[in-house]
Amino acid sequence: MKIHEYQAKELFATYGIPVDRSIVCRSVEDAVKAYSQLDSQKVIVKAQVHTGGRGKAGGVKLANGEVELRKHAAAILGMDIKGFTVDRILVGQAINIEKEYYVSYVIDRKSKSAILMLSKEGGMDIEEVARISPEKIHKFVIDPSTGMPDYLAREAAFKLFDDIKQVRQAAVILQKLYKLFISTDASLAEINPLVLTKEGEIMAIDAKMTFDDNALFRHSKIATLNEPTEEEKKEQNAKNKGFSYVNLGGEIGCMVNGAGLAMATMDLIKLYGGNPANFLDIGGSSNPTKVIEAMKLLLSDQNVKVVLINIFGGITRCDDVAKGLLEAFKQIKTDIPVVIRLTGTNEKEGRALLQGSGLHVAETMGEATEKAVSMCQ
Ligand code: GDP
Ligand code: MN
Repeated sequence: MKIHEYQAKELFATYGIPVDRSIVCRSVEDAVKAYSQLDSQKVIVKAQVHTGGRGKAGGVKLANGEVELRKHAAAILGMDIKGFTVDRILVGQAINIEKEYYVSYVIDRKSKSAILMLSKEGGMDIEEVARISPEKIHKFVIDPSTGMPDYLAREAAFKLFDDIKQVRQAAVILQKLYKLFISTDASLAEINPLVLTKEGEIMAIDAKMTFDDNALFRHSKIATLNEPTEEEKKEQNAKNKGFSYVNLGGEIGCMVNGAGLAMATMDLIKLYGGNPANFLDIGGSSNPTKVIEAMKLLLSDQNVKVVLINIFGGITRCDDVAKGLLEAFKQIKTDIPVVIRLTGTNEKEGRALLQGSGLHVAETMGEATEKAVSMCQ
């Protein structure tokens, strides 16, 4: 689960990590009020959206004076950034930046632990730094039994700073950020940029945090900050109906009984050059209401051009499944072609029932997938 910069900054402040003074606003009037409270001629106006690259999209602007602030606030509120509409902006006291750094804690699969990543190349896209000059990113694997002791925090801080005063300041920030990262079950705590100000202070002027969904039950306060996307709402909805559904963005809608078979189906779609629109495991049983619900879910995805139903009749009998499908398709009218692979117990009877129904019936998974992919072209 993601949270906004302003929410992450509140958490930072609670843990004693220095941040710039800022106020979240929902309207231009709010922003003007915030401006007077901040008591600073120059302020920074930032879009609050659950996606990166706001700066590049024009969602981060420096304003000198109230007139400019009004202009930027009006332009950024309502702006579309990668499909997210900006409904909140953060107005913050402008900082005199001497230099920008990158700091993050993240769960690393390779070392199976939390790692600290640091770079002197702050402020820009860290993926870009990793690609062009990976040697500029320093990584520390953290032993969970010892965490971030003083010596390690200082060793890490020395990667960014030479001046001992700055090293000390940064080391404390690294320790506090680690504490926050661990105690909130975060999967990411990122400061990009951590800045050294012209006045010699070190502070976070951006903050990004994501949390492990499976641990949210332990953090009820953080859980209330959840703002699911349309996609996530759909996935949650599907879960409530007993389906396991994940949107994948392709054009072949998949309906499969069994998670393993569903994964194999997606592999096969890729093998034939197509792209699955989703993962959907409808579980066992041939219940028509379930098929209807699943079809509605697939057809609500605008990207879907073909539906591929892959059923293996083990305990469920194929003729029962066929009856269920026929019942379901009496109620669902769609122009989108549907390919069905039906195999297992009573498969011949099942396929016979589907003849003349307008559904494309296939015997093998290969045949069905190839057909579905070719129909997308
Ligand atoms: P992001 O691009 O979405 O990650 O937004 P950031 O909050 O990281 O800001 C992007 C860039 O704007 C930073 O790297 C800084 O160069 C600049 N910036 C942000 N806040 C300030 C500020 O208070 N003063 C100045 N001078 N520049 C800022
Ligand atoms: Mn940033």
